[in-house]
Amino acid sequence: MVIPQYLVDFEAGQLPVVDTDVIVIGSGIAGLFTAIKASEKERVILITKKSMLESNTRYAQGGIAAVISEEDSPVYHRQDTLLAGAGLCSSEAVDILVNEGPEGVKELMMLGTAFDLENGELALTKEGAHSHRRILHAHGDATGYEIVRALSEQAGAHPNIEVWDNHYVIDLITEENECLGALVQRPDGQRVFLRGNATILCSGGAGQLYRYTTNPEVATGDGVAIAYRAGAILRDMEFIQFHPTSLCYPGAPRFLISEAVRGEGAVLRNIKGERFMSKYHELLELAPRDIVARAIVSEMEATGASIVYLDITHEDPEKVRSRFPTIYETCLGYGLDLTADWIPVAPAAHYMMGGVRVSHHGETSVHRLFACGEVSSTGVHGANRLASNSLSEAIVFGRRIIQRIGELPPRTRTGETVAYHDGRLAPAPSSLVERRLDLQKTMVRRAGLRRTAEGLAKGITELERHQAIFSQALHTREEWEYANMLTCALLLAKSALAREESRGGHYREDFPERSDEKWRKHLLWQRDKGMLEETSDDV
Ligand SMILES: Cc1cc2nc3c(=O)[nH]c(=O)nc-3n(C[C@H](O)[C@H](O)[C@H](O)COP(=O)(O)OP(=O)(O)OC[C@H]3O[C@@H](n4cnc5c(N)ncnc54)[C@H](O)[C@@H]3O)c2cc1C
Repeated sequence: MVIPQYLVDFEAGQLPVVDTDVIVIGSGIAGLFTAIKASEKERVILITKKSMLESNTRYAQGGIAAVISEEDSPVYHRQDTLLAGAGLCSSEAVDILVNEGPEGVKELMMLGTAFDLENGELALTKEGAHSHRRILHAHGDATGYEIVRALSEQAGAHPNIEVWDNHYVIDLITEENECLGALVQRPDGQRVFLRGNATILCSGGAGQLYRYTTNPEVATGDGVAIAYRAGAILRDMEFIQFHPTSLCYPGAPRFLISEAVRGEGAVLRNIKGERFMSKYHELLELAPRDIVARAIVSEMEATGASIVYLDITHEDPEKVRSRFPTIYETCLGYGLDLTADWIPVAPAAHYMMGGVRVSHHGETSVHRLFACGEVSSTGVHGANRLASNSLSEAIVFGRRIIQRIGELPPRTRTGETVAYHDGRLAPAPSSLVERRLDLQKTMVRRAGLRRTAEGLAKGITELERHQAIFSQALHTREEWEYANMLTCALLLAKSALAREESRGGHYREDFPERSDEKWRKHLLWQRDKGMLEETSDDV
């Protein structure tokens, strides 16, 4: 697989240069929060490829996990996280998350996020695989929207933060393994060299690699591919979380029906109306997500249906409506009444556990390049993410990144001699919309919820047929996004083929057991070294 260092030819010295202290790429929770924190002492430019409000974060429903209740303890949160992570979490990273999470949540509240209250106290709910009530939420089921609202108001008004929306980061500009900034395309097509003392990649996940996903269109894995081209180490690419319950109804998008609905008592039924989770796990509907998702697929196959039902009709309708206003209204828009109807659902790609490997202070293996949020691999999630840990992870590790950036010496390189000429002249194919769809279908069929060596090998061959894109002249956002998706898809499928066991978000039908003896380790990728291995520190 020959992936070039840059997607386009350029000479940094010929580009307009814009200088700042800290560059933040992305406007989800990780980008907005780190930008606000950095702006206390530094000038920040925050770039986002659509509007500031569009991101995975905006759609987060269930909430944010933190130990708030006196009945709970970091010890329990730690246990639950490690159990979900299936032997591949970094125990140190998990300790950091559970101990620093409550402070992080307080900080979010100080920045204006209004979490729901019950009798004057923070309302806490429980989600799958959490042993205690520790999920804070906002407007019932619009937690992400509330966080983005509060943080974007702060970021938009801050004199030290300049927001570049509808701008696209094509690549990072590096010299001798040091990140000097980013090559950015402005909305009018002009390219600039945005230069900074530190760059924080907060570009989110890659749900769009799959035909069925809960993620919005911006989640194309750009940051993972960009970091890979820049030489950063990636980790755990094979672990993808499929959410068990996305709405599956003609004409409707794969809208997420939050785990919290099951937390509040909803049960799953196959199309014959039978409740089935007792056949699969003692925690029933609140079993870990991968188990619930695969159980649903087994039931769909056994009954010859493409859906199962989520049933919360036995709960108090008023409570359901007030607890889940967004889900209630959205379903109603398609003629489905959550309080009276069983809701048709099916699994969909939801969350990327792996990503750009970072230290406990968010440093990647490229100097001055940090990664935060879903694009990063902190080690918190291991092979499977515990529900609602991702929003807390972004805050906790975001705070640590800002501490570390404060200690960075000033940059001495200007980067103005960096240039890249690959002599690429062949135009990109005109049928990129179809190619993107083909890639998404290949990923569902070959590298989805259930994988086999044969299917993965076929998938890799199908993907590799399109590798010519890496030696073609790419000029548009659609072309760069496709190249990024193809990069992520290939790395994911190759890691999944190599990992001959089943664990967390990676299930191999031909190796259905977990093998700690052989596979208590991570698969890494680095552009000039290929696939590497690293022992897990989950003890
Ligand atoms: C439907 C849904 C529900 C969820 N519910 C929960 C929940 O209840 N609790 C929980 O903890 N987690 C939840 N998650 C997961 C969680 O929302 C995400 O993991 C988290 O919000 C990621 O935040 P982020 O800041 O890392 O990335 P995002 O919020 O995805 O933001 C990424 C940003 O990067 C920008 N970007 C990407 N590439 C480029 C580029 N090349 N140039 C410029 N900008 C770029 C995007 O435009 C976007 O602004 C949910 C996810 C989804 C999709």
